[in-house]
Amino acid sequence: MIKVQGISKIYQMGEVNATALRNVSFTVEDGEYVLLSGRSGSGKSTLLNILTGVDKPSEGEVFIGTECITDYTENQLAKWRGKNIGIVFQFFQLIPTLSVLENILLPMDIVGTIAREQRDEKALGILKALGMEKHKDKMPSALSGGEQQRVAIARSLANDAGVIFADEPTGNLDLENANKIYELLQKLNEQGKTIIMVSHEREDIPGVTRKIFLRDGQIMEDSKDEKTII
Ligand code: ADP
Ligand code: MG
Repeated sequence: MIKVQGISKIYQMGEVNATALRNVSFTVEDGEYVLLSGRSGSGKSTLLNILTGVDKPSEGEVFIGTECITDYTENQLAKWRGKNIGIVFQFFQLIPTLSVLENILLPMDIVGTIAREQRDEKALGILKALGMEKHKDKMPSALSGGEQQRVAIARSLANDAGVIFADEPTGNLDLENANKIYELLQKLNEQGKTIIMVSHEREDIPGVTRKIFLRDGQIMEDSKDEKTII
């Protein structure tokens, strides 16, 4: 469960303050697939960065399970992130000097919960499930954008995190590749992953069970599809 309580974020830029989030609260249960949408500048990325501990709120708290990550130090956050969440970005952010396989092994090597001798097999299994096994030895630059994003999703699955955060994961892809990524996220949700995805699109994303719409840093709409929530 993810519980966001009274989150505000004010960016201070010299004399000027920019309020990016105003008293945002909501709870996400395990297994939900949440679409966080809103216009550019509405606070989506700020909220995602606070949920993943990349940024600290000015006010309020984020609980993931029973842990309040808002109080964590950078060190604790890095450890927590590696074990508990996967993050997918708009521009993939793969390590350009590592092969596809090595990009997926890296989070396993950092966190170290999976025995060393099992890591290759595990990484290959994830790549296979995403239809990317044949690309394992290529460098990211040899892949299309859609393929790179599939590798980024594979990387987010490396440590079996229960929650995947994605910030505009299809924002840099054409329609066909975007649809493939959406299919993949839907499948992962059906397999039990909690997904929180930012997109400025509001409609037609298959499998989404809940839509939260932000405007000017506030939640304007929060609707659940009761049929699909278990
Ligand atoms: P979105 O992802 O919905 O486009 P953001 O969360 O990036 O929105 O931004 C929300 C608001 O906060 C915007 O007004 C933006 O200009 C401001 N903002 C975001 N990041 C910063 C920052 N690092 N410094 C100052 N203002 C920022
Ligand atoms: Mg954004």
